[in-house]
Amino acid sequence: MPELPEVETSRRGIAPHIEGRKVKRVIVRETRLRWPVPSDLAELLEGEKLLSVARRGKYLLLQFPQGHVLMHLGMSGNVRVVSQQQAVIKHDHVDIVFAGDKILRLNDPRRFGALLWTSGEVAEHELIRHLGPEPLSEDFTLERLYQRSRKRKQAVKTLIMDSRVVVGVGNIYANEALFKAGIRPGKAAGLVSKAAYERLYDEIREVLKRAIEQGGTTLKDFVGGDGKPGYFKQELLAYGRGGKPCTVCKKPLKEIRLGQRSTVYCTSCQS
Ligand SMILES: [Zn+2]
Repeated sequence: MPELPEVETSRRGIAPHIEGRKVKRVIVRETRLRWPVPSDLAELLEGEKLLSVARRGKYLLLQFPQGHVLMHLGMSGNVRVVSQQQAVIKHDHVDIVFAGDKILRLNDPRRFGALLWTSGEVAEHELIRHLGPEPLSEDFTLERLYQRSRKRKQAVKTLIMDSRVVVGVGNIYANEALFKAGIRPGKAAGLVSKAAYERLYDEIREVLKRAIEQGGTTLKDFVGGDGKPGYFKQELLAYGRGGKPCTVCKKPLKEIRLGQRSTVYCTSCQS
């Protein structure tokens, strides 16, 4: 599933090729995404200039003079910039054709993604409004995280994965950050000390930053080619390593389900 670093990498990959260009045509081959693609999308976009490609949480925000296209990659989506010669393949649901033979192409086999339009204030959109701070922005502070955790009985892992607390900490990154911070994922959020939150806060930012940096090496995958943008293989210490030796103490890592999500931790390094 594309997580925040993949979405940010997608943004960086596509933006330089389409920003500042006018939309010539919009081709919608499949309207049934998570929500229907607006039937008047072509009318709204044709002739308009794309001002910028931004990101909020896992939403790509394509800014036009009249409003924004909100794009979400769901479970399996990807976007890339192709030319007209690039043959359409299965699950290529939407093309936004820009001047200069640049086509923004959305592919999404499972169709959990979304492509929506809003003419209002994008920050007030119902899908955006309740999002917490961006993890790498100054709005996300240790103090804010710590205060949100007080008197909370829910697991600390569940807390940091709550997008109202902070956006973009998906399951993989929550596992990694908790491992590196030495905190048990199932521990009640309210019982985790301030010192531990300090480590966790740093590790959350660190794992996401590193993933975005690694993603940077795949930027060329977002242009041309029929391959899917390579969601980067990362060195993961916890996630996906249940039963394998802890990289610190060599004891086998324990795997449990927490809030229906696979959770891996070391019973001796994390407390
Ligand atoms: Zn260990």
